[in-house]
Amino acid sequence: MCALEPGWLPQLERREEWVRTARFPPRGPILVVAPHPDDESLGCGGLIAAAVRRGERVHTVFVTDGGASHRNSASWTRTRLAARREAEAIEALKRLGAEQSPRSFLGLPDADMPSPNSSAYRIAKAHMVSILRYLSPAFAIIPWRRDPHCDHRDSWSLVMDSLSAADHSCEVLEYAIWLDELGLPEDRPRPIEMEILRFDISDVVDAKKHAVRAHRSQLGQLILDDPSAFVLSDRTIERLTGPEEVYWRPCVRE
Ligand SMILES: [Zn+2]
Repeated sequence: MCALEPGWLPQLERREEWVRTARFPPRGPILVVAPHPDDESLGCGGLIAAAVRRGERVHTVFVTDGGASHRNSASWTRTRLAARREAEAIEALKRLGAEQSPRSFLGLPDADMPSPNSSAYRIAKAHMVSILRYLSPAFAIIPWRRDPHCDHRDSWSLVMDSLSAADHSCEVLEYAIWLDELGLPEDRPRPIEMEILRFDISDVVDAKKHAVRAHRSQLGQLILDDPSAFVLSDRTIERLTGPEEVYWRPCVRE
């Protein structure tokens, strides 16, 4: 397991609650895994912006194509929407200052990720393993393992499976997107399962908000012929674009 370097070693606040405050972005190469285009900004936009400002290598992997958000739109086919969402992700990374940072689009079907015994899964896993081997990340920033969205949970599993297959050890930090709005009590961290890292992003929060706004297809501003489609609410955006980002990492058992 890679140790956290002293420069970003979190300050222990209240050990009994396993709460720590992270004052700096992680040092070393960082892998960010977004189940959909927009999760990178909503969940990790501050960390990405702060890390690239400091010159860290940040590789963002978009797991699904995001093509299922407007299933009833006549004008936006799944293929057209997936292309649009990829373009929005690229624009979001640019707004975070990560224009030159590598990114990968695995292109798995939104809301229908392949099962682990399928060839599509094996191809995606091989892609992820190749990224891990070339990047050799010190940190993997991945979805919360029990976030109440199938793609978020399946992405967590895919990353953990790939880390094992690549025989790569690193710090794994998890971020939740939907837990606070849609989660059940059993979806939350269990006692002594995870510790909380609170990351101050006040210096870069404006860039994060700007990046979130790059995902226009998810804001109800672009596709108008599917009233039943998913829309990121102002409440969700406000909840996820405050002055801190919250990450969990497994507690170290002593
Ligand atoms: Zn998502």
